Amino acid sequence: IYLDRLMKFASISFQNALHYHSSVTDYKTQLYNHSFFLKRLSEELAKVKRYDHSLAVLVLDIDFFKQLNDRYGHLAGDKVLFQLARNLEKSLRREDVVARFGGEEFIILLPESSKESAYRVAERIRADTEEMEISYLDKILRITISVGISYIDHPRLVPASQVIEQADKALYTSKSEGRNRVTFYRPGLLF
Ligand code: GH3
Ligand code: MG
Ligand code: MG
Repeated sequence: IYLDRLMKFASISFQNALHYHSSVTDYKTQLYNHSFFLKRLSEELAKVKRYDHSLAVLVLDIDFFKQLNDRYGHLAGDKVLFQLARNLEKSLRREDVVARFGGEEFIILLPESSKESAYRVAERIRADTEEMEISYLDKILRITISVGISYIDHPRLVPASQVIEQADKALYTSKSEGRNRVTFYRPGLLF
């Protein structure tokens, strides 16, 4: 009887763990999803204000991904997304958070990062992505990414949405200046 109850309990915990996993995970890439990322970013922004921390947010977007889908098919595109996700995980620290933000966009939170190290991380990811070879059927696929960075180190509380908007603007600049590059947000950027 006791063992039976224990088994039931273990099974419920296991199911809860599974539900938790699927509620915070993007199925296609097995990274965190958009809503989990927003929650973590808000928590970290509160710490920046309270403890005088700093953080960086990187938004990454695959260059000309539509062409890759058109040329090799949607499944090839999916494999690229999965492989890029594994590479991103490999190049980050345990405390960093990487998520799929939607479509072919990824977002990374670097807590307690200096501006210099945020740039180093972004640039390393950009360069590693360029070197990546993804085999699909009998082909080798290659991609590049554009990156925008928003860096926060002042004690005012900034909403997560604003940080992301700034990183997005910087990403847009990377795109319009030729893609496959990293740009920091600064006021007056473009527009
Ligand atoms: P840019 O360099 O300006 O970013 O060009 P792009 O072609 O990457 O941008 P665009 O926004 O025109 O196209 C994004 C493409 O990403 C279109 C869509 O088919 C593809 N995409 C989005 N989500 C997925 C997905 O889950 N799987 C695959 N295979 N493709 C996806
Ligand atoms: Mg996009
Ligand atoms: Mg794109």
